[in-house]
Amino acid sequence: MNLQTIKLYDENAYETEFTAKVISCKKDEKSDDRFIAVLDRTLFFPEEGGQTPDKGKITLQGEDDINVIDVQIKDEVIYHYVDKAISEGAEVSGVIDWIHRFSNMQQHSGEHIFSGIVNKQFGYDNVGFHLSDSVVTMDYSGQLSEEDLFDIEKKVNGAIYENREIKAFYPTKQELLSIDYRSKKELTGAIRIVEVDGYDICACCAPHVRKTGEIGILKVIGSQNYKGGTRVSILCGFRALKYLADEHDMILKLAGSMSTSIDNVPSQFEKQQEEISELKRKLSDASEKLLMKDATEIPADMKNACLFTDGGMDPNVIRRVVNTMVADRGGYQGIFFGDDNSGYRFIIGSAEGLNSNDVLSELKKCCNVRGGGKSAMVQGSVEGAGADDIRRVFAALQ
Ligand SMILES: [Zn+2]
Repeated sequence: MNLQTIKLYDENAYETEFTAKVISCKKDEKSDDRFIAVLDRTLFFPEEGGQTPDKGKITLQGEDDINVIDVQIKDEVIYHYVDKAISEGAEVSGVIDWIHRFSNMQQHSGEHIFSGIVNKQFGYDNVGFHLSDSVVTMDYSGQLSEEDLFDIEKKVNGAIYENREIKAFYPTKQELLSIDYRSKKELTGAIRIVEVDGYDICACCAPHVRKTGEIGILKVIGSQNYKGGTRVSILCGFRALKYLADEHDMILKLAGSMSTSIDNVPSQFEKQQEEISELKRKLSDASEKLLMKDATEIPADMKNACLFTDGGMDPNVIRRVVNTMVADRGGYQGIFFGDDNSGYRFIIGSAEGLNSNDVLSELKKCCNVRGGGKSAMVQGSVEGAGADDIRRVFAALQ
C-alpha cells in the first residue's frame, strides 16, 4: 500500500518546480500508452472538489520529458497519469504549467468570495462547483435574480480592489470548533480552511491566490435555473479579460459593419429590426398578390388545381390564398412551397362535402408525405416527388 503523498501545493501555491522520488509506476490497465506514477511528494494538484487537475511535465535526468496527462487522488495518494514508464526509486523533477495553475487559482479564489457573499446575504449554499479549462460554474441552493447577480458581482470586485489577504491553514480540532466555515459535505480527516479576510471562510483543498487583488476581475457571464436553485457561470482574471476583449472585438466589428459607433449599436440594431419587419410585411403583401394572380390564371376547366411557389413564404398568406381558391373554384386546391430537390411544404383545402385528407392518401401512393388536418384543410410536407408528379395526382383526383 502506498503512503500518503506529500502535497507540496498545500504549503506554497506559487511553487512551480519540485523534486521527488518515484514510489511506484505501473501500466494503466485502461489505456495502451499510459502509466500511473506515485511520487513521495508532488506539486501537481489532482482533480478534486470540482476542479480539474494541474498540467505539466516530469523529467528524469538525461531522458525525454514525461507528460502528465491526468492527476487523481484516492485515499490521500496522488496518482500521476503519464505517457512513459518511470523506474521505481528514481529521483525526478517536475514542473507544473503555471499559466494554467494561476488561472485556476484566480477562478477558485473568485468563486470563494462570490459564494461567501451569497451565503451571507441570502443564506444559500454552493452545492455544486465545477472548474474546468472552459467553464466555471457554481450551483446555489436558492434563486438569484439578474439584479442579485449584478449586485454580488459588484461586491466581489469591491473585495478584489480591497486586496484582502487569503490564507489557507489546518486548524486543530479544538480551533475548528470555534470557526464558522462553509463546507460542501461532511469532511473527515484534517480539514484545510481557506479564509478570505472579511468575506469568506470555507473548507477547501485547492491552491488559492495570496491576495484578492490577484484575481484581477470577476465577471458573471450567465445564469440559469437549476434543480430549484441557480447555476451561475463566472470568469476571473485573464479568462475574464479575454472574454471581455473578444466581446469588445465582436461589437467593434458589428459597429463597423453598421458604419456607426459602439454606443449607437443598440439603437441602430433596433432601427434595422423595424426596417426588416416592414420589408417582410411588404414582401408578404406582394407575394400574396402574385399568388392570387396565379390563382386567377388557372384554366377554368381544371377542377382540382395546385400552385407552386418557392420556399420561405408566410403560411398565413398561403392559407388565405388556398381559402380564396376553394371559395372561387370549389374542388381540391393546393399550394406547394419549396422546390423539387429539397421537397415541398403544402397546404391543401377542399370544398364542403370533400375531404382534403383524400388528397394526402393519393399523394402517399407516389411520394413520402407527412402531415394531416381536418377535412376542410390539411398541411404538411412532401419529399421524393417533383412538381410534375404532384400535378398528375391533382389531375387524377375526382
Ligand atoms: Zn474551494
